[in-house]
Amino acid sequence: MSHARKYLIAGNWKMNLNSAEGAELAQDVASLVGQQTEVSVCLSPTYTALESVSKVVNKSNLLLGAQNMHQEAAGAYTGEISAEMLRHLFASFVILGHSERREYCGETDTIVNEKTLAALAANLKPIVCVGETLEEREAGRISEVIKTQVQGALVGVTTAQAENLVIAYEPVWAIGTGKTATPEMAEAVHAEIRSLLSGLFGAEAADKIRILYGGSMKPENADDLLAQPNIDGGLIGGAALKANAFAGIVESALKLSK
Ligand code: PEP
Repeated sequence: MSHARKYLIAGNWKMNLNSAEGAELAQDVASLVGQQTEVSVCLSPTYTALESVSKVVNKSNLLLGAQNMHQEAAGAYTGEISAEMLRHLFASFVILGHSERREYCGETDTIVNEKTLAALAANLKPIVCVGETLEEREAGRISEVIKTQVQGALVGVTTAQAENLVIAYEPVWAIGTGKTATPEMAEAVHAEIRSLLSGLFGAEAADKIRILYGGSMKPENADDLLAQPNIDGGLIGGAALKANAFAGIVESALKLSK
């Protein structure tokens, strides 16, 4: 039953929870699943809660992630945050190119690529999000969209850097909607992503890259999704805001790791 790669369960809290509320949720998650080391578990609060959550996370085996960063190292970019600033707070991961940022903040594949390179250069592990809209799925364009997004985000990434990459497949129509891709639908796209990665970095490196599924993952559907050979974890929105639900997903991954 054991899985080829170490599972990563990453919570994306989006624009929810202030610094005190974030620390409280992190503490609850830490009490439930913060001691085990078999599954990587990452919490991604808002920027203002990073420091308080970092303090909780650092006393456990949980890891810290950010939801975005700027591609430049420093300078006149009002309102932005650099990779180095995130590292200073002990962040391990950064979510890049989430569909909400692509839709509301105009992030293109080129911007996601610049951010990916900057994150890797700063020793932050990027969680690069890709996924098709319902319109694109219905038009039979899934493979084309995924290929453009994956290859577009990874221009210039070296094979040596690839082991620090994480890809999240998040069908846009499944995010926050309660609609989940079936395990078979998700697995088919994950296998395609792995083969794209193999084309870029070779099979050996591609086999080490974790590909997460995101889109209404919850304890009720986590077992079946995580049991797929190319689904190496989850990027969790709504369910990550409830300690028990989030821990339930981690428990699924733990069970499948044995
Ligand atoms: C997300 O935003 O990354 C996500 C997967 O959200 P949800 O779990 O709420 O669908």
